[in-house]
Amino acid sequence: MIERLLQEREVREFAALVEQSSEVVLTCHVRPDGDALGSTLGLMHLLRSMGKHATVVTPDAPPRSLSFLPGYADIVPYSKYPEYASGLVERADMLIACDFNGLKRQDNMSALWEITKARKVMIDHHEGPDGFVDLQISYPDMSSTCELAFRIIAAMGLYEALPLDAATCLCAGIITDTRNLSVNTKHLDLYDIMVALLRKGVPKRLILKETMETKSADAIRLTSFALCERLKVYKEHRAAIVYLTADDLSRFHYEKGDTEGLVNQALELRGIIYVAFMREDPVSVKVSMRSLGNFPVNKICAELYGGGGHRQAAGGEYQGSVQDAMRLLVDHMSDYDVCMCQVAETLKEEGYVLN
Ligand code: 5GP
Ligand code: MN
Repeated sequence: MIERLLQEREVREFAALVEQSSEVVLTCHVRPDGDALGSTLGLMHLLRSMGKHATVVTPDAPPRSLSFLPGYADIVPYSKYPEYASGLVERADMLIACDFNGLKRQDNMSALWEITKARKVMIDHHEGPDGFVDLQISYPDMSSTCELAFRIIAAMGLYEALPLDAATCLCAGIITDTRNLSVNTKHLDLYDIMVALLRKGVPKRLILKETMETKSADAIRLTSFALCERLKVYKEHRAAIVYLTADDLSRFHYEKGDTEGLVNQALELRGIIYVAFMREDPVSVKVSMRSLGNFPVNKICAELYGGGGHRQAAGGEYQGSVQDAMRLLVDHMSDYDVCMCQVAETLKEEGYVLN
């Protein structure tokens, strides 16, 4: 049984905005992941099936690893087609922001929010939404924006009308944000949502293979190299850092998406409570963190790297070298020791074996 967790007023207002709109633009955060694309494309397919003109505009190019998603070929990256994307946003009468809580996460595309006359809606599951929309549907308890989007669709009475392509995209977002239902599954009826999506005929095996079980030879070598040569363990802090320099990335012909999952592999280290992956990209160092239990990596990402995210999965950026980005975290590890020890104690009480 799928519970009714949403405020009815929000669902009513959203349904009314959809009804009044004919040109809809859906957008998400920069460097879109499975949940960002799953939610925007999923809603796009639903809106198209209702006769709306709906387009997904992303701040930058989506990763090729998600090209199996139905509708991927229709995505308009703002970085590649700025004028076309601006025209779409200018003409839109509804703008739906999925999977991000503040305009900072849109990079250069945030400028388009100033030119638009569209009604703006946010559908998101990050803490601390910064209120840049007319209708804010924000549920940080949800596993994913796709879970939230499904609940909205179900509450609007549109489950039967949900096209298979939409269901496939939503399922992909739930699977990627929960690592196939292994983390972040607070609401037990998420399993009922998965059943409801699978009943539509969603190709679950394809989604798993494409999102979590496929890499290029270069990507396999790069992530193996990182774990072999670029993993630093700080046992006394129950922390680890895995990093890649710009030279490492070019040596293995790095392409977007190649390091997906690497940070989770580092978290497999027994006894470790939190990990960071730092990648020296051309303009900044991308920081990605993961943790166990209640250890808040979103707090570290906010305090040290101007970022945020969820308690167990967060990210940020650093302007400078990867060595300096690492030093910053190492220098602050002792600040988080009290919290780390508390989390370690709780996990031990729950039966986890931490050496
Ligand atoms: P990932 O490590 O997979 O890139 O991101 C994990 C989580 O952290 C996602 O929920 C994502 O939205 C959030 N996140 C990643 N990078 C950033 C960032 O630079 N700023 C903020 N505010 N959140 C981020
Ligand atoms: Mn998400």
